Amino acid sequence: MTAGLASPLPPPIDTPLATVPSDTLTTASWRTFRPVIDRGLCTRCNLCWKFCPDIALELDAEGYPVLREAFCKGCGICAVECPPKAIVMEKEV
Ligand code: SF4
Ligand code: SF4
Repeated sequence: MTAGLASPLPPPIDTPLATVPSDTLTTASWRTFRPVIDRGLCTRCNLCWKFCPDIALELDAEGYPVLREAFCKGCGICAVECPPKAIVMEKEV
């Protein structure tokens, strides 16, 4: 690099962007698929809640997962991890 020129790299940040809590970022605007939960099949194992990388699922008083739509990016991890396949990904309309 030529001495005296500004570095092309961005300044260092205190926290890697990947560690910003996803529940502070709304992702609904770019979601193309959404998870739909069938309570009739759900065993309340909570695996979907544990695996969701965006804290987009919460558990209701009975232990069933409930989607927080504003924070779901539609990645489908919850549907893949659900043992009884109680979650299906449906295309946004
Ligand atoms: S689709 Fe992805 S972001 Fe949305 S609830 Fe499932 S695991 Fe979380
Ligand atoms: S992973 Fe499936 S069965 Fe387990 S709590 Fe979530 S929706 Fe229900």
